Amino acid sequence: MSECKKCGQCCKFIVIKLPHLKKKLEHNNRLYLDHKKFYRLHNCELLWHVDEKYGRIPILKVFNKCIELNSENQCNIYEERPLGCKQFPGDKEFIHFIKECGLSDN
Ligand code: SF4
Ligand code: SF4
Repeated sequence: MSECKKCGQCCKFIVIKLPHLKKKLEHNNRLYLDHKKFYRLHNCELLWHVDEKYGRIPILKVFNKCIELNSENQCNIYEERPLGCKQFPGDKEFIHFIKECGLSDN
């Protein structure tokens, strides 16, 4: 049975879909390389993902630990945490980016 391992990984980054950049990133290699470099400098990772709505699209994985995640991997504002946190994992799409998540079906 899948269960949360309290690893805190889901509070250490966010993912942003970039469907509007798909054509540019696919067809302009120079721009793609520039983007990769830019994202690396900002502690981000550019990935490709198959999305139900958009098909294959670029995804930006932004490494940025939430300031409310404490050293025990617990949320300091658990009762008042944002709606997005309460709904996690939602449609489970986000879990795709967290290999170690205990809620993953993999
Ligand atoms: S990544 Fe998954 S297992 Fe880890 S804390 Fe978040 S929900 Fe739990
Ligand atoms: S508010 Fe709490 S549950 Fe939401 S990302 Fe931050 S630490 Fe995690």
